[in-house]
Amino acid sequence: MTAPTANRDTKSQTSTSTEPSDKTSVNHVDVLIVGAGISGLGGAYHLQTQCPNKSFAILDSKSEFGGTWRTHTYPGIRSDSDLFTFGYRFKPWTGAPIATAEEILSYLGEMIEENHLDDKINYDHQVESASWSSEAKRWTLSGYHTKTNRRFVYTANFLWMCQGYYRHSQGYTPTWEGMEDFAGQIVHPQTWPDDLDYAGKKVIVIGSGATAATLIPAMAPDCEHVTMLQRSPTFFATGRNANELADMLREIDIDEAWIHEIVRRRVLFDQAAFSKMCVEYPDEVRKELLQGVRDYLGEDYPIETHFNPRYRPWHQRVAFVPDGDLFEGIKSGKASVVTEEIERFTKNGILLKSGETLQADLIVTATGFDLNVLGDISFSIDSEPLEFHETITYRGAMFTGIPNMVWVFGYFRAAWTLRADMLGDFVCRLLKHMDNRGASVVTPTLQDDAQGMNLLPWVDPDNFNPGYLQRGLHLLPQQGDREPWIHGQDYSVEKDAFPAADLDDGNLVYA
Ligand SMILES: Cc1cc2nc3c(=O)[nH]c(=O)nc-3n(C[C@H](O)[C@H](O)[C@H](O)COP(=O)(O)OP(=O)(O)OC[C@H]3O[C@@H](n4cnc5c(N)ncnc54)[C@H](O)[C@@H]3O)c2cc1C
Repeated sequence: MTAPTANRDTKSQTSTSTEPSDKTSVNHVDVLIVGAGISGLGGAYHLQTQCPNKSFAILDSKSEFGGTWRTHTYPGIRSDSDLFTFGYRFKPWTGAPIATAEEILSYLGEMIEENHLDDKINYDHQVESASWSSEAKRWTLSGYHTKTNRRFVYTANFLWMCQGYYRHSQGYTPTWEGMEDFAGQIVHPQTWPDDLDYAGKKVIVIGSGATAATLIPAMAPDCEHVTMLQRSPTFFATGRNANELADMLREIDIDEAWIHEIVRRRVLFDQAAFSKMCVEYPDEVRKELLQGVRDYLGEDYPIETHFNPRYRPWHQRVAFVPDGDLFEGIKSGKASVVTEEIERFTKNGILLKSGETLQADLIVTATGFDLNVLGDISFSIDSEPLEFHETITYRGAMFTGIPNMVWVFGYFRAAWTLRADMLGDFVCRLLKHMDNRGASVVTPTLQDDAQGMNLLPWVDPDNFNPGYLQRGLHLLPQQGDREPWIHGQDYSVEKDAFPAADLDDGNLVYA
């Protein structure tokens, strides 16, 4: 795929290009999307289909589309969600529910091709600053082309931030004493070297989230041994990587678009029932999840030590292990689990607090993401630096005092894309509403009734508390204690609330 350096006009585009005094050409579009991952590409599709008269462009610092699915190249990389809901609402998923990164990229590539979005994507464009001018009623984004270092400037009436929520250039690695003494290699899954050879090696994977659960079965057959070293256990759900309903509908020759819709509804129904069970009967759910692991590892395996978390089910994402492959790896003897705290790294491995040493040639730190805010872009509003954490969110999508801007942040417990599609509808409805009102600016603004309301973190830590959020919560916007100032994170509520949202209830101020 080629990387156009400036936005090209097409039949539906009216972007303009001017030449300012410093010779940096300025491209203007109605809507500028930052990020060519699942969210940004989905946003482009919705804009093109629902607001065909709006000009738009996508900027991404990478040389190819796909975001998360391009960044992560570690062995076995795959989705955790089923693709019936992690795929777009508008493009049927026809493969097995859990998909590899390669399959997801191929699906996204088809979507780009089918909708002729290629020309709208400006690759290798690293955005550094975004400033809003109330006088000009527009955003100005500037940055540099990562291959040529040439500066670029885009102006836009509306900014659609689809930059994700974590820093792509590096993962989160805690500092342990003695790391510099370790004679082997230390690798983070987010920056997996292409030429990493782990055949016949003793490997320790630190962590037990979805990444570790993916890596371990993929590496185990080639390593001498791989140890999953966790401080505390994670919940895992197991099952076949197949969807019986989809298979049955295919057998009787139902159209793929129908299958996609029917299976999505089934998956969402089942997920809502599971979430409810977790809240109402957490002990029963815990027992059931542990039994799923016991079925693979047998009665004698110390399930309680290694697979029974301290937190309630669903307090953190429950990692799905398709076809029990992680447990098959453990059963085969090529993989094992150690639940212990690290004392320090040594020359040959890791010394545990218990005094035991784990030998290693390679240590993989599957210790999570580094949350970043607004793509590390320096934002300002009328020349004042934006303090994002001081803003209050409007429906987990817009922010008080930030005009004409939406950030797509997906679900934790359901597939991210459900929210990306839903916000696509919302943005398009809002843009049309502004046009109908003759408004150029929309800014979420607290009305008198909401002044002084209780403010809460972006995500309630009692409800959901993965490490990356705990570490970065202070950087994120706040939410209020009433609608529409709540960041709900519940698809079953939001799927009705967003379309019904009254855009003239006074909380969105137009100019
Ligand atoms: C390994 C892994 C597996 C996951 N599995 C699932 C799953 O199964 N289900 C689920 O719901 N979620 C999953 N997630 C969460 C996942 O991040 C989202 O689901 C989704 O892919 C995010 O898409 P996005 O387009 O919003 O952001 P991203 O995929 O993060 O893409 C953001 C894009 O913005 C670009 N960008 C950022 N900052 C700038 C800048 N300053 N200038 C220019 N470009 C910029 C980046 O280069 C990137 O291409 C997973 C995450 C990881 C890391």
